[in-house]
Amino acid sequence: MRKGIATVSLSGVLGDKLDAVARAGFDAIELFDNDLIGSPLSPRDVASRCADLGLEIALFQPIRDLEGVPPERFEGVLHRLRTKLGVMGDLGATTLLACSNAGADAVDDVDLTAEQLHRVGEVAGEHGVTVAFEALAWGRHVNRVGQAWEAVTRADHPAVTLAVDTFHILARGDDGTALAGVPGDRIGFLQVADAPLLDMNLLEWSRHFRCFPGQGTLDVTGVVAATLAAGYRGPLSLEVFSDVVRETDALVTARAAMRSLLFLGDQLAHAVPAVERDLVSAAPPPAARTDAAFLEIANPAGDSDVEKLFGALGFVLAGRHRSKPVTWWRNGDAHVVLNDGPGPPRSPHATALGVSAPPVETVAARAAALLWPEVSTTRGADEAMLPGITSPSGLHVFVSDTPGHDDHWQRDFEPVEHAGVGTWLGIDHLAISVPPHQLNEETAFFRTLFDLAPGAPEEFMEPHGRLRSLALRPADGDLRVVLNVSEASAEAPYGVTQVAFRCDHVARVVDELRSRGVPFLRIPDNYYVDLVARFDLAAEDVARLRHHQLLYDRSPRGELLHAYTDPLATGFHVELLERRGDYDGYGSANTFVRLAAQASDPAGVVVGS
Ligand code: MG
Repeated sequence: MRKGIATVSLSGVLGDKLDAVARAGFDAIELFDNDLIGSPLSPRDVASRCADLGLEIALFQPIRDLEGVPPERFEGVLHRLRTKLGVMGDLGATTLLACSNAGADAVDDVDLTAEQLHRVGEVAGEHGVTVAFEALAWGRHVNRVGQAWEAVTRADHPAVTLAVDTFHILARGDDGTALAGVPGDRIGFLQVADAPLLDMNLLEWSRHFRCFPGQGTLDVTGVVAATLAAGYRGPLSLEVFSDVVRETDALVTARAAMRSLLFLGDQLAHAVPAVERDLVSAAPPPAARTDAAFLEIANPAGDSDVEKLFGALGFVLAGRHRSKPVTWWRNGDAHVVLNDGPGPPRSPHATALGVSAPPVETVAARAAALLWPEVSTTRGADEAMLPGITSPSGLHVFVSDTPGHDDHWQRDFEPVEHAGVGTWLGIDHLAISVPPHQLNEETAFFRTLFDLAPGAPEEFMEPHGRLRSLALRPADGDLRVVLNVSEASAEAPYGVTQVAFRCDHVARVVDELRSRGVPFLRIPDNYYVDLVARFDLAAEDVARLRHHQLLYDRSPRGELLHAYTDPLATGFHVELLERRGDYDGYGSANTFVRLAAQASDPAGVVVGS
């Protein structure tokens, strides 16, 4: 199958877009009419440029509102059509996309629509062009794929076919079953886009928030699988409009787009096995489970804040790396490694995440197949393989085997004898702050490589802006990642800003840490009055929470008690939490309180002062 992308899905001018698309490995484009109109290149120039780059112009979309038109205006439609068919001849394009009429004066008459589509088909057919008719989700009268298919059937012309657009189908609440009974040879084109699930105006959602498969949460695979199962074998073409792609370098977008097609092919391999081979390279499957293993923290010479903080938190030296200036510290099952090498600029300390996701060679091969870049590291003789992959925001993720295996990360450390190892239960989650334009790509990284599923996007008030948040976790395993986009300040730090450790008896732990000089965020008294209003907690329980300055949340499944250290100068801070019962969230109801408290407390507190 040809892999295509719409020129509207990239920033820049037409020539740059074509170069980026070809360099990323696509072999087809959908030409957006405005890109052509605004270009100094003639249609023939564009055709020859595309031919040189190995790109087929698989679709041209030059005309809106060509059915459901009041009859007295239909001659005007045919005039526009004939003109654009001449342009298509010069372009060498043979498929024309026709969207359902979204105009306020569109006529609600399926017979008229069918008759006009038939006439359009006759004119297009004379030029050797096939029309693919698409139900825009906000079409005036035709807005679902079933209606478009009925119109195509009634139009009864071989040059009039159905266009499948995953976004329009899924945005209306339909799914792949809506294509039941549509023969594959009557589907003229397949456009693919994902989106985060947002409850908003369909046109605005489509124009500003579409994203590539794997970056959103719609069941794109289901619709594509149904289209392929019907027998469609035309191009698979990405059509993404969004504020993000408008602002991102075209080549970066084109590469992210190609990755998304590879991921889609990987998903389809399970749904439509016969198609796998000609759609994509076969990426090995993701690990069956993914757990958090360790957090690596940059600890460049002279930065004693980090060591002080983790020392005060009860982490003890557990080992020294055999070949690198790296030490391993632990508190129970919570592990951090401090890297004394030079740290990266403008990053809050934590530079790498270790995950346990065996078999590690398979994860490395999957990363390579999905085009995620490898971290270049040196590896001593007989050291664990520990493949590293760089996320779009620059986080290094190292993949370890489970304890007792050759590729387990702890094997690379010379253990240090010590009395106790602490009682903490492990890393609960980490929060990664990413720039707004990288949220989709960072989501795709964790989703496509490790099969983490995103939850619903959340939004919080910050004292000076807003915070958008997306939590991801695997079907099996304890890795939890929260991606944050802060729009409070251009100076907001990026990277891992928060690591949350899980413990039993958080009140006791926090008390003990405070006595050792660990500063925790102060929680306003008003918060505890509000707790009384929100939950039927006993007065002494609320008094205890206030005394320990703990935040509290409850769900039908359990309770959460948590506290935050004051942030270091870089914004990095530690959360301690106790999950009771099957509480599964992150205390989102308390996020605005944390943000306000962080804005009130001076950042950069030195532990122990
Ligand atoms: Mg479309």
